[in-house]
Amino acid sequence: REFICFSPLLRYIYISLFCDRKIIMSDSLSKDLRVAELECRIEHLQREQENFRQITDSIKEVFFLIDSDTDKIFYVSPAYEKVWGRSCESLYLEPQSWLLAIHPDDCSRAMGTLETQFRTGEEFQEEYRIIRPDQSICWVRVQAFPVRDNNDKVYRFVGIAEDITQRKKTEKSLHKSEEHFKLIFEQAPIGIAVTNLKGEFEQVNPAFCEILEYKSSEILSSRIFDVFHANDTSESELLFVEKLFENNESEFQIELQCETKNNRQIDVILKAVIVFDEFDDPVNCQYQLLDITDRKSMERQLIHDALHDPLTQLPNRTLFTDRLKAAIACSKKSRDYQYAVLFLDVDRFKIINDSLGHLLGDKLLIEIAQRLQEEIGGKNTIARFGGDEFTVLLDNISDFSVAIQVANKIQHRLRDYFDIDGNRIFVSASIGITLCDYQNDKPEDILRDADATMYKAKEKGRACYEVFDKSLRLAASNRLKLETELRSGIFEKQFCLFYQPIVNLSASKIEGFEALLRWNHPTKGLIGPHLLIPVAEETGLILSLGEMIFELAFKQLAKWQWQGKDLTGFKLSINLSGKQLMAPDLIPIINRLLSRINVDPRMIKLEITESVLLEEDYDAISVLKHLRNCGFGISLDDFGTGYSSLSYLQRLPIDTLKIDRSFIQKIQRDEDNKNLAIVQSIITLSHAIGLSVIAEGVETKEQLVKLQSLGCESIQGYLFSPPVDEVAASDFLGKRIIDL
Ligand code: C2E
Ligand code: CA
Ligand code: CA
Repeated sequence: REFICFSPLLRYIYISLFCDRKIIMSDSLSKDLRVAELECRIEHLQREQENFRQITDSIKEVFFLIDSDTDKIFYVSPAYEKVWGRSCESLYLEPQSWLLAIHPDDCSRAMGTLETQFRTGEEFQEEYRIIRPDQSICWVRVQAFPVRDNNDKVYRFVGIAEDITQRKKTEKSLHKSEEHFKLIFEQAPIGIAVTNLKGEFEQVNPAFCEILEYKSSEILSSRIFDVFHANDTSESELLFVEKLFENNESEFQIELQCETKNNRQIDVILKAVIVFDEFDDPVNCQYQLLDITDRKSMERQLIHDALHDPLTQLPNRTLFTDRLKAAIACSKKSRDYQYAVLFLDVDRFKIINDSLGHLLGDKLLIEIAQRLQEEIGGKNTIARFGGDEFTVLLDNISDFSVAIQVANKIQHRLRDYFDIDGNRIFVSASIGITLCDYQNDKPEDILRDADATMYKAKEKGRACYEVFDKSLRLAASNRLKLETELRSGIFEKQFCLFYQPIVNLSASKIEGFEALLRWNHPTKGLIGPHLLIPVAEETGLILSLGEMIFELAFKQLAKWQWQGKDLTGFKLSINLSGKQLMAPDLIPIINRLLSRINVDPRMIKLEITESVLLEEDYDAISVLKHLRNCGFGISLDDFGTGYSSLSYLQRLPIDTLKIDRSFIQKIQRDEDNKNLAIVQSIITLSHAIGLSVIAEGVETKEQLVKLQSLGCESIQGYLFSPPVDEVAASDFLGKRIIDL
């Protein structure tokens, strides 16, 4: 004790350094201490003090000692100056100053803790703000530990204080960003969830629940695989989710169809990301879920629309061709694999359409499609190819006879009448069948063959089918050859006109000629129009050919005029094809020719057939009216072979009716006079509505006599003359009055 009283400083050091070690000085030592020894100890203690000072000077934490009797700080390390911004001396002089520095908002809390601690002598820890003299604010963390004497009485506290401003700032911004992310998580329009590695949900946001129609509590008590009721197709994909955990893929994204809690089918994109910790161990799995049901259904609709006929909802040409391609590929791989294509065309559909209107026509097509579907649907593809054409692909058939059976089934099923808005409609179809051909690998070739075969079936009459044979293909290739020749023929102007006189019976006079096309073929000689007109029409060559015909006819007429031939009341008939009539530049072409070649349109009659008037989507009548207004006469050719009724004629802009050759031929053989009666009524009615009549194809005297007796005014036919060339025609014009 004497030693300790030696100097206050030493006392302080002693307490600081040895107090905890509880060194008890012995009496004997105190009594016998010699000065030298004491000096040595002092020196030792001074060294210790220096060490201690070095430590306290160098640490950035503030180290302090509080006397528990006075509650006053009696030592503080130099770091105090930096943290509190005040000198250590000021603290010694004014021991309460450190308390005054506490931020008013934290003061009561900090003081409260301090008071309890001093009272109870417990260890304490507190974080609070202080205000430095320069008014800057600093967060400090203060810790103090009680020091007890032998009697377990606390006689001081050892404390440490540190500047935690930076940490507080970081904490605050961390908290802020956490809040921020929580908000995003809660309000995100896409579903977000977190599962552990067993797939058990740990966190889920409202969008996730909403998409799957679950409550969040339901999801949180389940596993990811429970929630995604995988249907058949995506089952394998969910297995993939499991794989993800096994293979440690870090992320994946799949599109899948799943069911909501209410068993609604939805399409979603599910993205999963595995989160790894700093040791690269997987921690959990985060999911993002996007509902793409609307987009998918729109996509499906678009795909469906692109591949289906909007009217009947049957596959369209594109889809059919695709399936046919697939069938061809299969047949190439295996000889056992066989398929057949049926090409079906509704007979007389155009008439039905025209007489009942397009709306009913459409309804009829829908019902036909339905019947086909019911009868032969299933694994066969039935497509609407366009208009009234349907195609059927019989895929993987055991035998070719199946195709015939199917054709019969179709014919049979169509035999029942259709009831369309109270109209009973009877329908039949012509069917062309092509069978799997191992040399033919292009869908368009197979379809072309089927189409050609269908036409052959049509020729046989209604409700027939025909099976493709190779001669048809030969015909098709001949046709192609003809087309090529026709092109060069037009280019080289190998065409000329023949003229067949039309005789007026009462005046016994040639009233006109019909101009008929002839082809001066370089190797085959003179070719009639029967073969070439259909090809020219199909290929569109008819337009340039037609223009050439007009030019030839106009020039011939101008030449005869110039030669001074007797052309009083004379009319030159020119045949006009439907395609020509429909061409938008027909009138400009005619006008151009008329201005170049000086002829009077009143000397020209244009012959059109009834079928032209039946052409869909085209107003032939107004074009005819226009031509008629220009001065051209109009004749209805081949009358009787088409479908127009006599009453219909009244509305047409025509001048002359040409009774088809077939009627005239029958006149002679007609035993019950039925045919005669028809011809009679045609003539009578035509006269009644102001039309003149020409009988075509008159070959015999008997026919002539009969026609005369029926009041027919004009005839054309071999009896008087076949079509003749320009020279012979000119001769006829030399003497138009004839002796019949
Ligand atoms: P069409 O307009 O009915 O022409 C009458 C056809 O009957 C002509 O055949 C003619 O030679 C033939 N003919 C005339 N009198 C008799 C007869 O007493 N008995 C028989 N059996 N036949 C007779 P052609 O010249 O072979 O013409 C056939 C068809 O080709 C024409 O039928 C017409 O539709 C078309 N055609 C002819 N020339 C042209 C043309 O310049 N332009 C267009 N677009 N078509 C034409
Ligand atoms: Ca004609
Ligand atoms: Ca005719």
